[in-house]
Amino acid sequence: MSGNRKPLELPQWPQYGDDERDGLIRALEQGQWWRMGGSEVDSFEREFGEFHGSPYTLAVTNGTHALELALQVLGVGPGTEVIVPAFTFISSSQAAQRLGAVAVPVDVDPETYCIDVAAVEAAITPRTKAIMPVHMAGHFPDMDALEKLSAASGVPLIQDAAHGHGGAWQGKRVGELGSVAAFSFQNGKLMTAGEGGAVTFPDRETYEEAFLRHSCGRPRTDRKYFHQTSGSNFRMNEFSAAVLRAQLRRYPSQLATREQRAPLLSSLLARIPGVVPQTHDPRVTSHPHYMAMFRVPGLAEEKRNALVDDLIERGLPAFVAFRAIYRSDGFWESGAPDETVEDVARRCPNTEAINNDTIWLHHRTLLGSEEQMHQVAEIVADALASA
Ligand SMILES: *Cc1c(COP(=O)(O)O)cnc(C)c1O
Repeated sequence: MSGNRKPLELPQWPQYGDDERDGLIRALEQGQWWRMGGSEVDSFEREFGEFHGSPYTLAVTNGTHALELALQVLGVGPGTEVIVPAFTFISSSQAAQRLGAVAVPVDVDPETYCIDVAAVEAAITPRTKAIMPVHMAGHFPDMDALEKLSAASGVPLIQDAAHGHGGAWQGKRVGELGSVAAFSFQNGKLMTAGEGGAVTFPDRETYEEAFLRHSCGRPRTDRKYFHQTSGSNFRMNEFSAAVLRAQLRRYPSQLATREQRAPLLSSLLARIPGVVPQTHDPRVTSHPHYMAMFRVPGLAEEKRNALVDDLIERGLPAFVAFRAIYRSDGFWESGAPDETVEDVARRCPNTEAINNDTIWLHHRTLLGSEEQMHQVAEIVADALASA
């Protein structure tokens, strides 16, 4: 134990500068602060879409609404089912449940923490309307196998890309994979305006339908209050879009830094006895690294939580991993009527383990220097040794 180690001063999050500041003033001085009157949201959609290889991009209020809107456009509603990973943030299932559908949690891979394709296949029923892979911490699930399954079953994929900004699978960017993808710009995400979201669509038709539904069913130029579809107000405002345009401009260099630091930190963590970092499938050709995640396999939940408290005390932005979605009471308010927590837990053994023994470090960790990656790993090693 080194008592005289210098304090770890990792970069702060969110990051901003004159570009965000100028954007806010520009939006303010337009004199029109909603998307129908201004140009910032339009510009952001074009730029974000270009970055992800999708010409059909719609900005929305937040990532949860992005998922809800995308699911609605895919026909999800009462009497339908949506397959989601059991290990994810709760929005993945809440979006389906808000539409009156049943969210069906399935197990994840113990090494990538992403949805398990065999488990998806086993869960498909005649009511399944969508399969929702989550790019956990920026890592893609096996998109080749999922695309094959989707084609064979006729059930569309919807990518929960809340951790996936700038990601690519076998050289294909999120918007080029042929399915709908939903992003989040909440404060902790890789690009942020505090809150915000976006959806990329594979074709103009679904994009146009989503545009109507995100704006109370009202066409862009309507002046007669004739609402063509049902919907809600999920419109992004001009200030958020102005900030996000600046965030997108700083994104490629942040991504490059994380792509350099993540393998280094991962290799250092892997040398610590008992620590197993999230695996990196080489088919993930651009990895956003939303979090640095690792397991201490077999660690009991209370011990894991105490370890996270200790890591925070030692200066690391550490967090306990998401709780299995079916282990929150909120999930069961609209859960499957014929299933119990125990039923789902039995078919999700990997999620059960990850739920207890996994820790993640905020992505600002990966914006630190190479030297800091060594410091971070030493802190984890020390904390584990004294646990
Ligand atoms: C953050 C997050 C969301 C929801 O995004 P919000 O903008 O917070 O509504 C959805 N899915 C996953 C996996 C997330 O981490």
